[in-house]
Amino acid sequence: MYRHTLLWFTNNLRLDDNPVFDHASNSERLTCLFIQHPRDNRTNRFGFKGIGKHRQQFLNQALLSLNNTLRPLNQALEVVESDYVDALSRIILRDQIEHLVTSRHTGSYEQNALKEVASRFPHLVIKVLETHTLLNERQLPFALSELPDSFTPFRKKVEQIKINAPVSEPVSLPPRGDNNRSTINIECSSENQFNGSEQSALEHLEAYFCSDRPATYKETRNGLDEWKCSTKFSPWLALGALSPKRIIHRLNRYEDEVVANDSTYWIYFELLWRDYFQWYAHKWGNQIYHQTGPFNRNPLTSFYPERMKSWIEGTTPYPIVNAAMRQLKATGYQSNRARQLVASCLVHELGIDWRYGAAYFEEALIDFDLASNWGNWQYLGGVGADPRGHRQFNLAKQTQTYDPDGLFIKRWGGEEMMLPIHRVDYHDWPIEMK
Ligand code: FAD
Repeated sequence: MYRHTLLWFTNNLRLDDNPVFDHASNSERLTCLFIQHPRDNRTNRFGFKGIGKHRQQFLNQALLSLNNTLRPLNQALEVVESDYVDALSRIILRDQIEHLVTSRHTGSYEQNALKEVASRFPHLVIKVLETHTLLNERQLPFALSELPDSFTPFRKKVEQIKINAPVSEPVSLPPRGDNNRSTINIECSSENQFNGSEQSALEHLEAYFCSDRPATYKETRNGLDEWKCSTKFSPWLALGALSPKRIIHRLNRYEDEVVANDSTYWIYFELLWRDYFQWYAHKWGNQIYHQTGPFNRNPLTSFYPERMKSWIEGTTPYPIVNAAMRQLKATGYQSNRARQLVASCLVHELGIDWRYGAAYFEEALIDFDLASNWGNWQYLGGVGADPRGHRQFNLAKQTQTYDPDGLFIKRWGGEEMMLPIHRVDYHDWPIEMK
């Protein structure tokens, strides 16, 4: 039994299926903490912020909800804006923490912060739990260093492995320490169709599997605009307000009670893609950000600020790309098909370094997940886990297939302003990116 445990929440903002609670319970006192890193609001080297308004609002909703669900357990969430090491060190000293429990994260800031506090506080027992993936690392039938370089061999090796059942939410928790106040000064509005609370995630999960949509997922998943065409689990999964194991558990029930077909299998298949990118990020670490990717391929790209601006604002010569980019700006969401098209356009038609696209997505997406975002961008940038290496979508053909009546383009104003790619001479410099 520890005297005081610190539970550092990162990408596991939920009570359900969250094994951190089991470990945190073995303590006389407990401090629950979330740290928002100031880099989220700083402009990075690509000219974007780490977090945009849609995800910030979604995150705020998730934090408020977590605080509310902790309250009946006599607990509260402390939310601070700080560098991770500073905040952790301050609270370890303030509460005389002996035991730190957290979720495994693909981010190097999070990983380095743990290393730093371990060296600053040698007495500290640190427990890192896997809450973000379907499989735990020890369930993988290969060492992480042997992770296949592309998805299909990975899938073939893992898809028969039984996913562990989700664990129930805690029924009691140790009390807070004397110094531990709930400091949650955040505001929420609810103008987006996604609400970040765990309750909304579980309601959405239930509504999805109480509908007939899972039975047709494979045929509808490539739709560009319809809320119903894909699962829309990604924003909650990204913050950990929803557990991937909980989804599989509910999916298995649907297959037992309603139907098991290609479509229901395909939901699992897509979640395996998500797991693949998580392990890919764990394996390659910071190489997930490298322009040449982990395999050292050399893309022929450059940077054209005026084209980047057109891409972001939806004023390229390609109406389908414009519509998708305007949708992203307005809602924080874009379908998987649209993401593939706009990424292919950025890399091939516009000739821009893929990392700028990834950095803009990091700011703009409501469901930003480090591994899924940078992994998919490397894939489409031709430097990642794609065995074909050069995947260019034919935008005219894709428009014919996925928006034959032009409804998506019309709805988001994809033809409102189309500027040519070559339009800048030196009098126009410098160009503002946003
Ligand atoms: P569904 O089609 O219903 O899929 C179900 C779940 O499977 C998703 O919620 C997601 O968790 C997972 N999934 C599906 N496709 C992928 C994929 N290609 N890679 C990883 N997981 C997948 N997804 C994110 O969650 N966060 C990101 O930051 C992100 N960035 C992306 C960037 C690019 C350039 C591309 C091409 C894809 C990106 N994706 C990202 C993957 C995918 O586009 C979204 O997960 C999906 O569109 C979310 O909608 P959904 O939940 O309705 O997906």
